[in-house]
Amino acid sequence: MAGAAFQGRDGRLVPARRVAPVHDSVVINSRGIGAITLATRLAREPAFEGRVIVAGKPVSETRQLIDGCTLRARSIDYYAAASDTSRDDILTGIYGPEWRQAETDRQMASVARMENGRARLVRVEAWMTNKGVKRDRSEGAPLSYGVRNSRLMAALNEKAASCGVRFDDSGASTWDELRALSNGKNPLIVNGTPKPVAGAAWQHQPAAPKHFVAAAQMAFTAPRLEAAGAIARQDSFIGIINRDGAIDMSVFYPFKDPLSPRAAYYGIFYRIVRNGSEAMREGHQSALRAEVEAVGAALGLAPDDADQTSAVAWVPVSPWRFTPSRQTGVLDLSRISGAGAPIITGDGMTRAGLGALAAAEALIEGTPPEPAMNRALSLYRRLNMVQAGAMAWMPGVTEWMLSRKPKFALMGPGKSRDWDMWAGAW
Ligand SMILES: Cc1cc2nc3c(=O)[nH]c(=O)nc-3n(C[C@H](O)[C@H](O)[C@H](O)COP(=O)(O)OP(=O)(O)OC[C@H]3O[C@@H](n4cnc5c(N)ncnc54)[C@H](O)[C@@H]3O)c2cc1C
Repeated sequence: MAGAAFQGRDGRLVPARRVAPVHDSVVINSRGIGAITLATRLAREPAFEGRVIVAGKPVSETRQLIDGCTLRARSIDYYAAASDTSRDDILTGIYGPEWRQAETDRQMASVARMENGRARLVRVEAWMTNKGVKRDRSEGAPLSYGVRNSRLMAALNEKAASCGVRFDDSGASTWDELRALSNGKNPLIVNGTPKPVAGAAWQHQPAAPKHFVAAAQMAFTAPRLEAAGAIARQDSFIGIINRDGAIDMSVFYPFKDPLSPRAAYYGIFYRIVRNGSEAMREGHQSALRAEVEAVGAALGLAPDDADQTSAVAWVPVSPWRFTPSRQTGVLDLSRISGAGAPIITGDGMTRAGLGALAAAEALIEGTPPEPAMNRALSLYRRLNMVQAGAMAWMPGVTEWMLSRKPKFALMGPGKSRDWDMWAGAW
């Protein structure tokens, strides 16, 4: 295990203390980020060599921004550790030889007010920088990268293949079909998707979700960024709008995508919808879509082929407490890593990497992976819960504080740089 990158203050990751796996093979039903990180780490372990199988359609890349695009730099540490390589190697796999355009060095924030369809930024202030960091951390390290999720998935899938992961694209997805793919005597089935595995026995069936996150995102060019004067080139931006009793929150990050060569930023608006129902979905998504364009314009950004790059989402919130696997003999990788409110803290890809490594180390050691994952993810989960509260349960206080002193209001999240939750742990 690549030590320096692996250790950090963000997640309690414990390297396997011995090699004594209970299972001799794994079959994973997804090519997603968590799934592929777990597969890559296990495939490199002699005890699992040749017996890690990933079932799922090959990654297909389009310009559309489906799933997460704010890739906290810390995530790269986890992907690099899984394949025992360097950060630069992972970044080259994603972007080719040059990725500066995608980097964030400073994070800015402001309340925005909608006036006749246009957004006015109230007071823009920095809440996190990569300067003046703690003495045992590197000055000037990038905080995050803007990436198209399918580009990242494709790069990590390629790395996984080179580490010995075996792929199956027959369409196997049920319990019986997945087990039939195993070439070991005692396989573990890993669920890398949020939905349960068809045909697997329930161990514990969670209640139906009550709350949802609605979102709308797209890629932007930056024709007037300097003229607008709100943020600089390697800055990200958080903008919040208090709409009908809850916070609509946006983030805009420097971005680079070979399929959208003119895009320089991506932006997303999202909202927690309490007691949400299908009937509420479209209304929120179209309000968020209008807001992302309006705040983008206030920053000097213009939509980049919105008909091709934009996407909307409606994703359930799950409890923040200890999350067990739902089905017998199935590790619920995606559900455990993603527990809480998805999207809102921009850490799903980091959590997917961290959760996968925690699970992998436990599986190599022969101990149950669920407690290891829940332990490792606890700090991310706690901050996610606090932010959900600020957005949906006390929006007035959040707006009041952010409109007066953004830096002070974001002091908690600002500290997360020191806990290695943004820049890599170096
Ligand atoms: C709109 C949006 C914005 C987001 N923004 C961010 C962000 O800025 N930063 C960040 O870090 N994270 C963000 N996330 C979360 C992030 O995308 C995921 O947490 C991250 O991709 C890791 O998930 P995963 O690929 O491991 O697993 P999952 O997201 O759980 O999905 C695994 C894979 O399974 C596929 N899948 C889903 N359901 C099924 C099914 N029933 N059958 C088969 N396959 C299925 C998915 O397409 C995916 O490829 C965002 C998510 C959304 C929806």
